[in-house]
Amino acid sequence: MTHSPDVACTRCKFFDDHAQAQAAAEGLCRYNPPVTQPSPEAHGLWPVVSREDWCGHFSAETPVAGSGD
Ligand code: SF4
Repeated sequence: MTHSPDVACTRCKFFDDHAQAQAAAEGLCRYNPPVTQPSPEAHGLWPVVSREDWCGHFSAETPVAGSGD
């Protein structure tokens, strides 16, 4: 399956590059809530994706108002 180079996690509004201790080429996908907790006391985990990953839920980031022209 081919896709446009414009379709990538790094260009998706659900991509969060503020992940702690993640590799520079990775970030978190916030499309869904956190998944499986290792234990009841642990935090849920956000899926880690690479900047060039993509999925069928891709949604382009919308420009911030006032950031244009
Ligand atoms: S996995 Fe899908 S929804 Fe999540 S950041 Fe990447 S393209 Fe967006």
